[in-house]
Amino acid sequence: MGWAPRVGSLFGIELRIHVTFLLLLAFLGLAHWLPDRDVGAALVGVSFFCLLFLCVVLHELGHALAARQFGIKTQDITLLPIGGVARLERMPEKPLQELWVAIAGPLVNVVIATGLYLGLKATGTWQPLEQVTTTGGNLAERLWVANLFLVMFNLLPAFPMDGGRVLRAFLAMGMPYARATRVAARVGQGMAVLFGFAGLFVNPMLILIAVFVWAGAEQEATSAEIKSLFAGVPVRDAMMVEFQSVHPTETLGEMARRILAGTQKDFPVVDGLGDVMGIVTQAAFFQALAEHGDDGLVTVAMTGDFETAETEESMQEVLGRAQPGRCTTVPVMRNGRLSGLLTAENIGEFVMIEAARKRRR
Ligand SMILES: [Zn+2]
Repeated sequence: MGWAPRVGSLFGIELRIHVTFLLLLAFLGLAHWLPDRDVGAALVGVSFFCLLFLCVVLHELGHALAARQFGIKTQDITLLPIGGVARLERMPEKPLQELWVAIAGPLVNVVIATGLYLGLKATGTWQPLEQVTTTGGNLAERLWVANLFLVMFNLLPAFPMDGGRVLRAFLAMGMPYARATRVAARVGQGMAVLFGFAGLFVNPMLILIAVFVWAGAEQEATSAEIKSLFAGVPVRDAMMVEFQSVHPTETLGEMARRILAGTQKDFPVVDGLGDVMGIVTQAAFFQALAEHGDDGLVTVAMTGDFETAETEESMQEVLGRAQPGRCTTVPVMRNGRLSGLLTAENIGEFVMIEAARKRRR
């Protein structure tokens, strides 16, 4: 995500704040200052939202720390004007684990709300709720209301909210994962329709939320569909076995002839011992040829930042490891020797073949 500088880290997880979030704070400060030109009111207004977003960060941290228990890393937590986003490496597939990761966030807000409630009662500062609004009333009590709202909103049973994942996890305990996702996505879209309808009469903001929920459900259902195609498929069934490798002493001119002679785009560089040293992608090849000419060695175009897989591994696992920005060609090893390649094109072909087979059934 661009425009989101790192501001620190919590439990080893990077915390980023999107610049638009700072703009929102400035706007809120101004909105609170304008009516009475009161700096105090502006400060209170801004600190309420800062505390509210602190609760949002703790919510995301709840997800991240729960995921860590299952060995899932979190790249970072980013604060946006619409809320927080924890970028988990992946979601756990075991229903109970997904349930735990999804519920951990709202649970944090339940804990905060309970703490605030007990504190307010103990100090005798609890006000009747009618006196509490988004801009006025006891700061701690406003935070209590906001945390309850966060819990309810996040537990709505619709993707991309946590409640959608909770629902899917429950369903997945009794049916296949892809079907559970489809059902959960339909429930979410049903909710989106209700929101949109209510939005026409109550608050236009609801229509915006409806669109957001509808799109989230659609996306989740598609990705689960694709995942289900790969369920239980070993890498050897999807990998490309007819391919060429290049030797590190080969020149770019020689490689140009290989590229023209066949349809292969990326080439693994394999040394005399059979070890994969790196990958030369087509884009890197063109750039290297322009820079070094025909006599340059293929190694100048090679990247060492690539993933490898084993023939017996499941496709789901390998795709789960894929990281944006990394080389998309994956050498597949068997007993330490290169025995196949997974490329973006042949994974695409595999998806289309399986989808066609499914249509026939
Ligand atoms: Zn959440």
